[in-house]
Amino acid sequence: MNNALVLFSGGQDSTVCLAWALEQFETVHTIGFDYGQRHSVELTCRKIVIEKIKAAFPAWGKKIASDTLIDLKSLSAIADTSLTRETEIKFNKNGLPNTFVPGRNLLFFNYAAALAYRLGIKNLVGGMCETDYSGYPDCRDETLKALERAINLGMGEDFKIHTPLMWVDKAKTWDMAKTLGGQPLIDIIVDETHSCYVGDHTTKHSWGFGCGTCPACELREAGFTKYKAA
Ligand code: ZN
Repeated sequence: MNNALVLFSGGQDSTVCLAWALEQFETVHTIGFDYGQRHSVELTCRKIVIEKIKAAFPAWGKKIASDTLIDLKSLSAIADTSLTRETEIKFNKNGLPNTFVPGRNLLFFNYAAALAYRLGIKNLVGGMCETDYSGYPDCRDETLKALERAINLGMGEDFKIHTPLMWVDKAKTWDMAKTLGGQPLIDIIVDETHSCYVGDHTTKHSWGFGCGTCPACELREAGFTKYKAA
């Protein structure tokens, strides 16, 4: 059972997780979600990133198996957030930014587990992180440990949820990419991945594409600056 299913969005973090999984496991599948995100350009990026990784890392390429895109557009119909609507990014009264999509990661892992159940996969990998993050409760280690238990109880399975970035800050995420795949992987992340919340994939910076001012861009830029300075 040396296989894994990676929650792969086409962003920086999930690309590093994909590389991490390709080092750990014999066979690696990917899953992505179309939830009506404003930055749906990431869905195009994810296909390109997979192809670029296959081309640059043939040994990893042999391990890459199926890719599945799940239609979860119903989520954007019920979630009033700035990730799914054209509204200004700001903080809600509860202290969370309105980029938080309630239930998103909970749903993602349930769908991933259902697919893993069918494919006979035991390891689920996600790029959640509570070190340098926007405070989303569904990115926390405690949430994901509880979710793993709930999924295993509810499906009668023994899935393991891996979150290799949980205790890694954004600068260390770049370091991890360098260790895993050297400069070729850094180049793929800079040139091909997408993390910007507002979907700007035309403005290019040293750290990649993005508006440069949304919370995702700010985190990515600050991490890259710290990584380059180290
Ligand atoms: Zn941005």
